[in-house]
Amino acid sequence: MEPAIGSGLNTAVERYYDITLDLYEDLWGEHVHHGFWDPGEVPGLNGADRHAATDRLVRELVSYAAVPPGSRVLDVGCGIGGPALHLAGALGCTVEGVTLSARQAARANEKAQAAGVGERARFHQLDALGTGYPDESFGVVWALESLMHIADRVAFFAEAIRLLAPGGTLAVATWAVRDGELDEDERELVRQILVHQVMPDFSSLEEHERLARAAGFAEVATVDWSDAVANSWDPGFAQIQQFERGRSVMRDLARERGVDVLGFFHAGPLMKKGFDTGVITYGALRATKPRHGR
Ligand code: SAH
Repeated sequence: MEPAIGSGLNTAVERYYDITLDLYEDLWGEHVHHGFWDPGEVPGLNGADRHAATDRLVRELVSYAAVPPGSRVLDVGCGIGGPALHLAGALGCTVEGVTLSARQAARANEKAQAAGVGERARFHQLDALGTGYPDESFGVVWALESLMHIADRVAFFAEAIRLLAPGGTLAVATWAVRDGELDEDERELVRQILVHQVMPDFSSLEEHERLARAAGFAEVATVDWSDAVANSWDPGFAQIQQFERGRSVMRDLARERGVDVLGFFHAGPLMKKGFDTGVITYGALRATKPRHGR
């Protein structure tokens, strides 16, 4: 298969994460994904519980997918390595992380060294659909909030099953969309989110489940975590207030890095509306590669 780095979408994703690396790191720390809160829990202003919540989401996915300690893991869309450092640290896994952004891969390697797990967590600039790893290389394929950026989800599940050893585990958490038809306003909201976040489209959780089964996975299950993660877009977040105050800060950033950087700021209110109206959903999927044939 032709590696897709260089294709239009992948170039845009690569650029987006290159130019927003520091913004995400300031806002979210080393985790480039939602937080997981208890029902009714509201994020505070100091960001401390936001970091605890993003940490918690990683633990929730480990536990939901039953990631075995010590596994060899492919981290699809590794960001700057936050989740991988947990897998390599607390769980004693060996992790190969791939991201389209060379800057993210470099930052993740730096963080792994600093955390003393540089031998067990390595990060590369690679397209997840063309990594070149041999068949059955991994015990776990882990994709935390990266599948929304991958247009060919049929190919993603096919590649995941190819790369997993028999009995291996697929663990996915992803933004999704409500199953079924959307009305015109809903479609427009989704369209804006997709444009700002450099995503081709969303699938519903039900669709993810169908695709995993069609690829040959067994024990496929999903869980809807929308209520637990929606608080991540609470407008009380210090950073978002800061940028609402300082439009000139955004203008300067856009001038310096290009207008794509603004997608980072537009996502907040749109995602909040998406969760409030139930159009945007969020969930996890777990599945197993059968041990004997299909
Ligand atoms: N999983 C990380 C980062 C999520 S951000 C975390 O939870 O912290 C989305 C990530 O997916 C980015 O690192 C982006 O580069 C990566 N990504 C998107 N499409 C990809 C593809 N086709 N191949 C590899 N990585 C991809």
